[in-house]
Amino acid sequence: MSFEYRNGSLYCESVPLAEIAASAGTPCYVYSTAGILSRFLEYDSSFDANQPHTVCYAVKANSNLSVLRLLAQAGAGFDIVSAGELYRVLRAGGDPSQVVFSGVGKTFAEIDYALKSGIHSFNCESETEIEWISECATRQGKEARIALRVNPDVDAATHPYISTGLKENKFGIDIALAEEAYRKANALPGLIVDSVSCHIGSQILNPTSMLEAVDRVLALIERLRDQGVRITHVDLGGGLGIAYKPNDATPSIREYIGQLNARLAGRNLHVAVEPGRSLVAESGVLLSKVILHKHNGSKLFTVIDAAMNDLMRPALYQAHHEIQPVHQHQGRDTVTADIVGPVCESGDFLAKDRQMPSVEIGELLAIRDAGAYGFVMSSNYNSRPRAAEVLVDGSSWKIVRERETFEDLIQNEL
Ligand SMILES: *Cc1c(COP(=O)(O)O)cnc(C)c1O
Repeated sequence: MSFEYRNGSLYCESVPLAEIAASAGTPCYVYSTAGILSRFLEYDSSFDANQPHTVCYAVKANSNLSVLRLLAQAGAGFDIVSAGELYRVLRAGGDPSQVVFSGVGKTFAEIDYALKSGIHSFNCESETEIEWISECATRQGKEARIALRVNPDVDAATHPYISTGLKENKFGIDIALAEEAYRKANALPGLIVDSVSCHIGSQILNPTSMLEAVDRVLALIERLRDQGVRITHVDLGGGLGIAYKPNDATPSIREYIGQLNARLAGRNLHVAVEPGRSLVAESGVLLSKVILHKHNGSKLFTVIDAAMNDLMRPALYQAHHEIQPVHQHQGRDTVTADIVGPVCESGDFLAKDRQMPSVEIGELLAIRDAGAYGFVMSSNYNSRPRAAEVLVDGSSWKIVRERETFEDLIQNEL
């Protein structure tokens, strides 16, 4: 476990969180090296020895350079959704030949940059995009490898904002129209059309829907091969969820990959997966300090120094994050409180009607499972400087992104 209590004090690996807060201040994101690497190794080592594969970390989940560098050194590939993410991967020492570029609205300039950088392939979501990649590759005198991201029309049974595999979503190409799209793509110059990709959503707790999508994609690959399209790669996306609530069952990475092994055996396909959340979410906390308590009628609000601008998931998706006092005390009362930030929005809450040990002004709280879609979604709303980020490795730790200053808030303004 990356985060656990020792003698009543919450630690990240061998470092007390209180030590980090005292020195780096709050709010502050803290990530565990061992936690991130163990998740990556679980993915990587669960593939059958003779199954060619690449684990492409979905950069958007947590794009801190130090996190990317860790994963690059462990041998990860990367799934990017913008030129900015490609820039980060390259700066972190990632191998461009292991980068796949996803996303529904790549611009011509982004395609150009990615091709010049020598990325592995593009996961394409529209005919227009495919035409642009063909044109760009022809101009550069190169061949671009592409997959069509198909929309298998399965329900990921997750929050509507993070469900992507239904016809009503903006993502992918309708699987029923895919064969026609492959024929058209194959006729264009400058393209190597050798892969199928899909990604049906995020925070999926029951992998059945993911496996249903896999089966539909593999059936499509058989049909395409029958029609003479040489498919050698398949990219099955990310999406595996984690247990944000203590009673949620976490889907096992090993079992999920085991299911993929069984389906891929003998098919002569290189497989990529694109996990984001399941690689990094549990390996991060957001450390915050209690500012004050206030009562409105019978309601108790605990106002803390982290807010929706630091961690947007509760406001955006009604997401649940466990919140724990960094110091355990015997004999605390249990209270029901809304844990809120100082931002001027009623949507600014980290937890609603939460049963919590009663905490005092100045106490430290750890908001758990904040390693994915945490800092990356943060903003300067209400002119709040963004939080610091810290990376722990065993008994040492370092700041990997400085807390922003007031100067930082205005530096690009004229
Ligand atoms: C967001 C995204 C992922 C990662 O999803 P997780 O749920 O974080 O694993 C992978 N692939 C694509 C195309 C994505 O958009």
